[in-house]
Amino acid sequence: NYQLIHLSTGDMFRYNMKNGTELGKLAKTYTEKGHLVPDSVTNEMLKDEVNRRLEKKPKGFIFDGYPRTKDQAEVLTDFLKEKGMQINAMVALEVDDEVLVKRLLERGKSSGRADDANEAVIRERIAEYYRKTDILKEYYQAEDKYYGVDGVGSIEDITKRLSGVIDKL
Ligand code: AMP
Repeated sequence: NYQLIHLSTGDMFRYNMKNGTELGKLAKTYTEKGHLVPDSVTNEMLKDEVNRRLEKKPKGFIFDGYPRTKDQAEVLTDFLKEKGMQINAMVALEVDDEVLVKRLLERGKSSGRADDANEAVIRERIAEYYRKTDILKEYYQAEDKYYGVDGVGSIEDITKRLSGVIDKL
């Protein structure tokens, strides 16, 4: 709809894990425990991918699952500034933790993702979120860029809510 390039750091790690690259082997030691991959690794991977995609002069990007720590957010801000770009919005799908646990267990039946299969790992991912990612709400609120979207409902309704935010931007 918006001709933005969708970049998911989770997809990038899964691609590397599937192909058994050194990056994939390293990432696996963290993802299988429900922990975040270290910032230095994640930031370099993301920057390389953005640089590669910029060659085609896209209108912009949707970063999915990135940034997930304050350090990542700061690195991203500086990196985009160097390129003459900026973050316009952080769009967060808001869903209660217990609903998330149920959803991820359900997704685990078909996703083949080791980190979806086990409730203990799912709960560790949520704990990791509160330890490292939750702070980004305040970080982007301070810049007036935080948009919370109710993530409970039908896919169609949630899509409308997300489009509503992006249309206003
Ligand atoms: P996701 O598909 O976004 O849920 O990501 C799956 C897993 O990949 C996460 O649990 C982390 O281990 C790793 N990962 C994805 N994005 C990041 C990120 N921005 N920073 C660190 N680790 C990440």
